[in-house]
Amino acid sequence: MESTVTAYIALICVSGVLNFFLFVYAFSRKERFQGATSFMLYTLALTIYCFSYAIGLTSSSMEQIMFWTTIQYIGMPAAASLGLVIVLQFLGKQWNRKQIASLFILPAITLLLVATNDSHHLYYKSIQPHAEYGLPLLDIEIGPWYVVQGIFTFSCMFYAFILLLVRLKHIKSAYRAQHLVLMCGHLVPMATAFLYLIGATPAGIDPVPIVMCISSGLYIWAILSVNMLSLLPIAKETIFDNMSEGVIVLDSQQRLIDFNAAAKKMFPAMQHSMIGLQLDRVWKQLTDMNFPLSPLKEQASFDFSLDNGYGISYFQARTSQLQQGKRASAGSLIMMIDMTELKQLQQELEHQAYYDGLTRIYNRTQFFKISSQLLQQAQAKKQPFSLILFDIDRFKLVNDSYGHDVGDQLLIHVVQCCKHILPEDALLARYGGEEFIVALWEYSSDQVRQLADAARLHIASQPLYVNNLKLNATASFGIAHLQPGNGQTLQALLIEADQALYSAKRNGRNQVAVK
Ligand code: GH3
Ligand code: MG
Ligand code: MG
Repeated sequence: MESTVTAYIALICVSGVLNFFLFVYAFSRKERFQGATSFMLYTLALTIYCFSYAIGLTSSSMEQIMFWTTIQYIGMPAAASLGLVIVLQFLGKQWNRKQIASLFILPAITLLLVATNDSHHLYYKSIQPHAEYGLPLLDIEIGPWYVVQGIFTFSCMFYAFILLLVRLKHIKSAYRAQHLVLMCGHLVPMATAFLYLIGATPAGIDPVPIVMCISSGLYIWAILSVNMLSLLPIAKETIFDNMSEGVIVLDSQQRLIDFNAAAKKMFPAMQHSMIGLQLDRVWKQLTDMNFPLSPLKEQASFDFSLDNGYGISYFQARTSQLQQGKRASAGSLIMMIDMTELKQLQQELEHQAYYDGLTRIYNRTQFFKISSQLLQQAQAKKQPFSLILFDIDRFKLVNDSYGHDVGDQLLIHVVQCCKHILPEDALLARYGGEEFIVALWEYSSDQVRQLADAARLHIASQPLYVNNLKLNATASFGIAHLQPGNGQTLQALLIEADQALYSAKRNGRNQVAVK
């Protein structure tokens, strides 16, 4: 028996050395390894497990054995959890920190219970020298927590194995070897642990650390020959869920079969319970509109907008057919891009092209465009048409005395005062600097004059309060009317309005002059 134990110890030490080698190797190349930390912890846990077990097998007293058993449990239960973490990382499954941390609660309790077993016997009901062979072999009667830990260890390995097995079919050939190695790395200890638990292995000895040398050897081979850990396949689901485009997948009957995280973000009403429903019904529930393409066309695109309560979002959608093998169509995809920012930028650019950035009224170019059409209409219909050109008095003084910013505030203030007086249909624009222009049609010359005077009075009576200052501004106004039956151009009218403004200035400012 002694020679068998010696052989066991030797094999366990080989496992320990191989794991320690893997630990050092991963540590020395941790920058280049993906998921290096969990792999290092995993191999370190296994190293502790193997060596403490081997040392335990050389012990000659129960105290020594119990001490090394406790050390062994620093590594063994955590290794199962760490093995699962490695597989999760390898498959690109995104578990958050809390979920990962929860995998280590049970191993921590186990360690505590093993260390204090003498006082409660929850892990080992009894543990004694082997009746036939004596120490270092043991007769163990397991306690309830032993079963709990056993189920947990087995479940972690089994779950990791199943995850790998499910993915195996879809894995690209470049990653198949490392995928299989990871599978074997879990299968070998799992099968051995199972045989040990059902009592099919030699009594009194745990065969798992012995077979760990097979798993570790495979890992070493995979790391050195097929780039295991330095090249990780990225799971299709990870790509699917990390795409910024929203994707809806339909089967050939146009039933919803899948959607990604971005689609869920675009349509907050999207639920997994909708899977299996017809696209028309899903679309109606999501957008309150009918799906715009009926029938669903191959390679079509359409735009749609959604009001999500915070504002309107704009989307562009494209459809495409899904081909599977030789089948005509296995279904279709609807890919959606959020165009809201682009649309807003476009609107902003359009606004900048038409409006003055400071006062938000029409700019000079847009004024010419609209007012020349209005003038033509007025001439054709023989209706009145007038221009009011006005200019803030001694504006330069404001800039010079209080700064450009205050000058800007005054420009905005004067525009507000005018908007308050002018009718809705008056065309008000910034003509340049501190000069503004108004086009009015369908108003008699008296009405236009009254409006100009009302605007002048309002500006003069409404002080601007800014930076603890009270600013009283005035403006001078020049009016030009289209003479009935006269085919004046806009330019000619503008010259007349300018001349009228000039005389208002010359005559003392804060007044209205008519050409
Ligand atoms: P007047 O009564 O004869 O009109 O005198 P004024 O000082 O208002 O006339 P002037 O045309 O000499 O001054 C216009 C000033 O307006 C000069 C220019 O620096 C200033 N100005 C032009 N555009 C802006 C602007 O966008 N913001 C500010 N703060 N000042 C501007
Ligand atoms: Mg001025
Ligand atoms: Mg001026």
